[in-house]
Amino acid sequence: MDSKQFKEAATAAIDEIVNYYDTIEDRRVVSNVEPGYLRKILPAGPPEEGESWADIQKDIETKIMPGLTHWQSPNFMAWFPASSSYPGMLGELYSAAFTAPAFNWICSPAVTELETVVLDWLAKLLNLPECYLSSTHGGGVIQGSASEAIVTVMVAARDKYLRETTSHLSGLELEDAIAHKRSKLVALGSEMAHSSTQKAAQIAGVRFRSIPVLAENNFALTGKDLEEVLLQCKAQGLEPFYLTATLGTTATCAVDDFGSIASIMSKHAPPNVPGEIWVHVDAAYAGAALVCPEYQHLTASFEHFHSFDMNMHKWLLTNFDASCLYVRKRKDLVDALSITASYLRNDFSESGLVTDYRDWQIPLGRRFRSLKIWFVLRTYGVKGLQEHIRKHIKLGEVFAGLIKTRGDLFKIATGPSFALTVLTIVPKVAGTVEQNAITKAVYELVNKRGEIFLTSGVVGGVYAIRVVSANPLAHEENVRKAFEILVETTEEVRDGKAS
Ligand code: PLP
Repeated sequence: MDSKQFKEAATAAIDEIVNYYDTIEDRRVVSNVEPGYLRKILPAGPPEEGESWADIQKDIETKIMPGLTHWQSPNFMAWFPASSSYPGMLGELYSAAFTAPAFNWICSPAVTELETVVLDWLAKLLNLPECYLSSTHGGGVIQGSASEAIVTVMVAARDKYLRETTSHLSGLELEDAIAHKRSKLVALGSEMAHSSTQKAAQIAGVRFRSIPVLAENNFALTGKDLEEVLLQCKAQGLEPFYLTATLGTTATCAVDDFGSIASIMSKHAPPNVPGEIWVHVDAAYAGAALVCPEYQHLTASFEHFHSFDMNMHKWLLTNFDASCLYVRKRKDLVDALSITASYLRNDFSESGLVTDYRDWQIPLGRRFRSLKIWFVLRTYGVKGLQEHIRKHIKLGEVFAGLIKTRGDLFKIATGPSFALTVLTIVPKVAGTVEQNAITKAVYELVNKRGEIFLTSGVVGGVYAIRVVSANPLAHEENVRKAFEILVETTEEVRDGKAS
């Protein structure tokens, strides 16, 4: 494809993408193809001769679209949103054009420097304490996902803990102590923390303990819950070294009690003393709300913690992937993740004057992801982003308000919290088994019909439906429609008329 052909193809592709977004609401939101549908309609191998763009593009509508679940549809209310915007897409386009695995500063200074600048902008926008800014000992780095961020900081936490608690030893004694301690290390997260903490523990080769949380605390982790598990671990001869605290848990968008967590940590594992426990704040989805001053009190305790991560790609109009990880001491990441082979050496890195982001992450190569964040921040501005979040918070309130008008059919389990409402269906005959059965039946029927797409979860042992009103294209009419669909389906199921 030459430049002229690229220009024509790109124009045709952009026309199609714009039309897709303009008409997305007319499409069935969740794909209903059968597994293996694509293999049946694609040739067994690539074409011998190259094909024209027109022929390739035709297959988008006929072959790919049927197998897409339309995450950008305003009728998509499942999981958390994966937001997209035109400036975000333009960032992806330029990033592809400038493709380079820019692992060191010298690989493309703009890639590193823009990342540092926009992550500092974002840290200020989210009201993170100064210790997370690059002008201090901290700084931000873009990771692919919140899960990747958790593995990365857990590895840094593990190495820091082992290094600091064995610094008085050397030689064989040191090796033995590290081997022994490694077998005792425990990573902690509440039972509502995202499963990525358990997965990270599995990858890092450490134990994992899930901390029970209470419905009466809205399923948030408190210092008291944490203290019980810390004492249990100690009694068992185990060594907790890491905790995930969450701002916006996946199931209910609960916010852990950061203040009491910080107090318990300073009592049992005081900061800046060997053996301190690394606290990571996972704000993957709800961290976006920190752009609004009314949520910024939530960051008050963060200076006592070690790292923070939020996904711009969930709720802040930035196309996947853009997970923004901040650490209070960048040295902790570099100490754990820097291995400088001879072919990676260069004068700039040796000078210590530049950042080499390869030392802040697991892979070596990295994409130019800060461009799309820069474009989004500049296109919407602070005010635009605040309006975006507030609009969705309001939609959550409208939806929950509607649900409350039908107390005969629905019960709100939690929320609305950060635009997430969790509800159960009221059965005709009272009882948890009946309630779980009818909630599941309504949920499955709604999704089978595909007009809206929801997810379910188990909250406090009860089966519940999650409705998220944070899709970029969502309007009040979409949440009203979701409510009506839930009413109709519930009545059908309760009356035994569902088919
Ligand atoms: N943490 C929380 C609180 C989440 O809700 C999720 C996913 O929804 C994740 C982590 C994992 O996100 P990612 O897909 O970016 O790894």
